[in-house]
Amino acid sequence: MANLDIATIRADVEPFQSELTDEFYRNYAGLKEGMSTAPIYSKYAHLFSEDAISAIKASLDAKEGPEDIRWLKYLRTFSTMGHMDNSVKELTDEVVTFEARAEVEFEGKSIPYRFVPIEIRNEPEHDRRTKLFEAKLVQTEPMNEMLLDRMSTLHDLSGMLGFKNYRELCSTLKGVDYKALEEQMEELLRRTEKLYVESMDELLMKRTGLPLTEAWTYDIPFAFKGEEFDRYFEKGELVGSLSSTLRNIGLEPDKYDNIHIDMEERPRKAPRAFCSPVKVPDDIRLVIMPVGGWKDFETFFHEGGHAWHFGNTDGRLPAEYRYLGDNSVTESFAFLFAYLTSNKLWLQEALGMKQADEYIRFALINKLMFLRRYAAKLIYELKMHSSRINPEFGDVYRVCLQRALKFRHTGKHYLEDVDDGFYCAEYLRAWILEGQLREAVTEEFGEDWFRNKKAGARLKELWSYGQKFKADELVKTVGFVDLDPEPMVRDIERGLTG
Ligand SMILES: [Zn+2]
Repeated sequence: MANLDIATIRADVEPFQSELTDEFYRNYAGLKEGMSTAPIYSKYAHLFSEDAISAIKASLDAKEGPEDIRWLKYLRTFSTMGHMDNSVKELTDEVVTFEARAEVEFEGKSIPYRFVPIEIRNEPEHDRRTKLFEAKLVQTEPMNEMLLDRMSTLHDLSGMLGFKNYRELCSTLKGVDYKALEEQMEELLRRTEKLYVESMDELLMKRTGLPLTEAWTYDIPFAFKGEEFDRYFEKGELVGSLSSTLRNIGLEPDKYDNIHIDMEERPRKAPRAFCSPVKVPDDIRLVIMPVGGWKDFETFFHEGGHAWHFGNTDGRLPAEYRYLGDNSVTESFAFLFAYLTSNKLWLQEALGMKQADEYIRFALINKLMFLRRYAAKLIYELKMHSSRINPEFGDVYRVCLQRALKFRHTGKHYLEDVDDGFYCAEYLRAWILEGQLREAVTEEFGEDWFRNKKAGARLKELWSYGQKFKADELVKTVGFVDLDPEPMVRDIERGLTG
């Protein structure tokens, strides 16, 4: 198919996204058994063909004005990344199938591979966690061979598409300067090092009896269970607390016919909340199976942030701005909502938690640990994606992660712990943007901005753009020159030292 025209490609972005998102929704909501995304990819294969990539590239080179260049760039990323996904889809399926079927032998019984992390998180004894972890690693070995094959293919494809390496492909397509972000993250690691070591060591000693330098990755989820806080986060209050929060900020949830909260209990429904923007902004599904506890609230509010972002996006925008663009933007609104669940005023008012200091401290140490973990992931991935993947990167992974986190890691997770397309950078940029957004609304509307209807109106305006603007552009509309980790870091420092 020669001369595939841009109008045809553009017209199919929305139906493709809708069909794909609906397939994910029905699977995770427990309405359908088994996932079949392959027929959808086949139906829309022309979107990810070499013809599509060159047609978009040709249009971009012809430079048809700044607005055209903006959506053309998002279209190019979508088409090229889709082409890469499509080329490794058999290998991806092979990994997913292996992971779904693998069993781990432990104390004479077999545990499904995917359930082992849950067992580890619930196991109070370090020695038994060690054994569970070691038993799981037996299955990680064959999976690494498949993952190595898959990553090698992605690295080779980057060269075939005319890029120096995978890192340059992602950086060019997404328009993100990873080197600058890496420098900011090195600075963040230096600046928060002492605070992290002291607070994390104290937390681990108290909750696992292990000092930071003797703990292992598998001790961390247990240390952050925080069951004693769960009684404040009641299952029955979950949906209602989001509704009243929205009402207080002037976003009448009952008026949003386009956002459907699906809280029906179904046997195969995923226990973790998620948001499916099936049609933006007309059909947004927020799915939850409430279990209660702090983690459930945090996740539900995170997904609620996505739902209200997509649900308030201007439907007149081209599909590229409603479905594609910079995911750091939607993630930052998700974080803004999620962090309400560790906001002192919110905890007092919404949940009646009078003594919130201990929980807030716990939540901030957890956040700092995740930030440092993602900073380390970025540093590692920049090395790995600048080169061609080989098993020696196991050691590079271990050294990078251990340097930032101080607790022990295995090198064997050097592929399993990597998401495609530098998604770690998207989270880091979202955390940074959230810190700046929160500082901007706090400055303009006060500490209790989430009870101020004017703040709600301001958010609605920011949400209306969908993902038209990248995180570094959106931050300018709230009064900053560029993405800057300062407000986020200061907030953590204040919370942990004050
Ligand atoms: Zn999210």
